[in-house]
Amino acid sequence: MRKICLDYGHGGTDPGAMYKGRRESDDNLRMGTAFAKELRRHGIAVDETRTSDVTVDLRERSAFSNKGTYDYFISVHRNAFKPEMASGAETFISVNGSEKAKNLARGIQRALVDLGFYDRGVKTAKFHVLRETKAPAMLVEIGFIDNTNDNFIFDGKSEEIARGIAKAIIEELGVEYMEEESALKQAVDILAEKGIIGTPEYWVEHAKAGKTVNGEYAATLIERMAAFFMKK
Ligand SMILES: [Zn+2]
Repeated sequence: MRKICLDYGHGGTDPGAMYKGRRESDDNLRMGTAFAKELRRHGIAVDETRTSDVTVDLRERSAFSNKGTYDYFISVHRNAFKPEMASGAETFISVNGSEKAKNLARGIQRALVDLGFYDRGVKTAKFHVLRETKAPAMLVEIGFIDNTNDNFIFDGKSEEIARGIAKAIIEELGVEYMEEESALKQAVDILAEKGIIGTPEYWVEHAKAGKTVNGEYAATLIERMAAFFMKK
């Protein structure tokens, strides 16, 4: 069974970096639990060093991870420097990090850069959670919390970021990525089943933000729906 240990940085009495009322500990938890969900959807077991806003010190985090056998240990953080002075994503591995760790770190870094973060690269560091964990370990800094544009990407593309990181992990584990059926697809399938929609592919493709739907098709849909309800 494939198994990952996720570590959401800071929490509880330690908010991590802060900027304009925003706390790193919250961002780490929110983003980390989002890609944990994606991993579990693919049958990958995920253990987490915390699942709420509680204090967990560094030694507890590494000890937690070392109790199990994991394919990877991934620590989730956001960076900070001086307000609005630095930006981008970077991923750290241990100074003597394995090739396995390096490969995933590169994959995660690429996913973040593809979504618009400036590429600060894959680097090495002597952080406790990298040094003291047995599993191939990395620490990802998902943009700077004290940079407005990085927060814009973090918030505006949060789902894509979670999916991108999960995809990188899934790929390294050799599991096939499965697209989640969208709510629209499910709704369209229901209408297709009832004979209201004849071309479900058309609606899934066109009935979304930024696209347009043929007026005649929309009129037909409305008429058929009205007819459907009148039957009852
Ligand atoms: Zn941090």
